[in-house]
Amino acid sequence: MAEITRFAPSPTGHLHLGHVASVLHAWRAATESGGRFILRVEDIDTTRCRPAFIADLYADLAWLGLSWPQPVRRQSEHMAQYRAVLDHLAAHGLLYPCFCTRRDIAEAAGAPHHAPDGALVYPGTCRHMDPGLRAAKLAAGAPHALRLDMARALQWPGAATLTWHELGEGPQPANAAAFGDVVLARRDVPASYHLCVTHDDALQGITLVTRGADLRAATGLHRLLQHIMGWPAPCYSHHALLCDAAGRRLAKRDGAPAIRAMRAAGMTPQQVRQAAGAEHPISAVSSGTGSL
Ligand code: GLU
Repeated sequence: MAEITRFAPSPTGHLHLGHVASVLHAWRAATESGGRFILRVEDIDTTRCRPAFIADLYADLAWLGLSWPQPVRRQSEHMAQYRAVLDHLAAHGLLYPCFCTRRDIAEAAGAPHHAPDGALVYPGTCRHMDPGLRAAKLAAGAPHALRLDMARALQWPGAATLTWHELGEGPQPANAAAFGDVVLARRDVPASYHLCVTHDDALQGITLVTRGADLRAATGLHRLLQHIMGWPAPCYSHHALLCDAAGRRLAKRDGAPAIRAMRAAGMTPQQVRQAAGAEHPISAVSSGTGSL
């Protein structure tokens, strides 16, 4: 099957070897199936994402020998679309406003219970808020996030027994419940990663989602959102994370070398691709028109 894959980085820093491993995974899956590779910029967090990083991202990927359809979708330009999804979920009674700060949550959590992504599972404080108080806070413009009412969402017909298809492994149980009442619109950004990524994968017709194993558990939650929204379920291929010689995951915060620095030090694109573990040389992939 001709797969439509994507690389969907958040431009909060420069591209490093871990990104290269990830983008090549998506590129190869598209190439080998005679499909299409799409680049998407996940930049809803305007406090952490920088235009300069986006420009450098394009330059680094082109230097590596990759190409992609234009125009590139930038999530920050489509907030109204995410709002519409939130409105839809709210109309079905699946969202509620949460006025808690991080500190409130930590204090209310008691024995902390963590979701698969490491976040504290929300203890449900605002779910039980008196409706009059809630309305008053909203009317006063109190800052709030929007949370999914997980118990209600799991009552959606068919939601409790969902699976997703992992390439090479088969159906996996979608354990969305482990995330609890997850934030779908943040206090500071009126959307969230989980909301935008599932919306955009559906909108762009992604058939195979390739990404690091760190996001594997989140797929259960994404599957639930797809099901409720009536979006198609793509296949998934989660790849092992690139580690350094000491076995530590390569990540920007741990000082993973930027591709720009490797390039400045005289490495060729081929050498950088090899360093990222690409066994095959880059080959051509068809690039159709972009979808927005
Ligand atoms: N934007 C996400 C990140 O940079 C990746 C999204 C995905 O591949 O699902 O971590």
